[in-house]
Amino acid sequence: MSFTSSTASYERLEGKVAIITGGASGIGASAVRIFHEQGAKVVLADIQDDLGEAIAKNLGEHVCYIHCDVSKEDDVRDLVDATIAKHGKLDIMYNNAGVMDRPFGSILDTTKADLDRCVGVNLGGAFLGAKHAARVMVPRHKGVILFTASACTSIAGLSTHSYAASKYAIWGLARNLAAELGQHGVRVNCVSPFAVLTGMNSKGMHEDAIAQSEVAVSGMGNLKGEVLKPEGIARAALYLASDEANFVSGLNLVVDGGFSVVNPSMS
Ligand code: NAD
Repeated sequence: MSFTSSTASYERLEGKVAIITGGASGIGASAVRIFHEQGAKVVLADIQDDLGEAIAKNLGEHVCYIHCDVSKEDDVRDLVDATIAKHGKLDIMYNNAGVMDRPFGSILDTTKADLDRCVGVNLGGAFLGAKHAARVMVPRHKGVILFTASACTSIAGLSTHSYAASKYAIWGLARNLAAELGQHGVRVNCVSPFAVLTGMNSKGMHEDAIAQSEVAVSGMGNLKGEVLKPEGIARAALYLASDEANFVSGLNLVVDGGFSVVNPSMS
């Protein structure tokens, strides 16, 4: 650990190598910045090449961008192999990329194509990321696999059926993986965000409208005056990724400002 100031702060991911998928926008972009600030070498993976490359360029030599469609196994295999070729190891695989199929609606308006898209990217991407991370982590007997699931793993009725199903399945995958991979020194956890305004749900919205919605959404929680931002989720992921959480595995860390506590009927 290197101390970086007189107040004895230190870089919580010093010496670590992390892949963050969906790192070009929203929660992932925030995680890229925070993991980098905390000393990690970060491989940012996404399909939005312009955004991803710009973030990497801006943050400097310890962050690089790789195009990767997480729903394609060849892309994910290449991503992990390129990371090993560049850095020699992979400590943290943060499977964060995700899509929402459509605005909230009845199952009667939901198509099989909506379901396939959510399952293909959200669950398929999580599965492939975990599989290829495990391939290189298990032989080292070390590593952390993280997923961005969703608060819909603890609160019903807040998202589309396809999205909720794909995210709940990620939580099931995480639990099962924690059971298998714990024996090989690999921790597996989920971060489950409540609604946070990002590209996924605020596309085309004016800044003022985004700010108003953030306040309205946060007011649904129990922490009056607090507004949930992507950084709030990324910092929860930072904890789980760091050695501070070295005995934490199989956890679904729901970041909802207490919403599921004050609205138990929806849980
Ligand atoms: P976002 O749209 O800002 O970011 C998602 C990122 O994933 C984008 O950069 C996008 O290009 C990337 N992506 C999409 N499909 C991809 C693919 N096939 N391969 C690689 N990258 C792909 O949204 P966000 O809110 O930051 O979402 C991050 C994660 O958080 C997602 O898994 C999302 O489901 C989850 N989440 C978000 C919220 C919310 O309210 N914003 C709530 C719960 C969970």
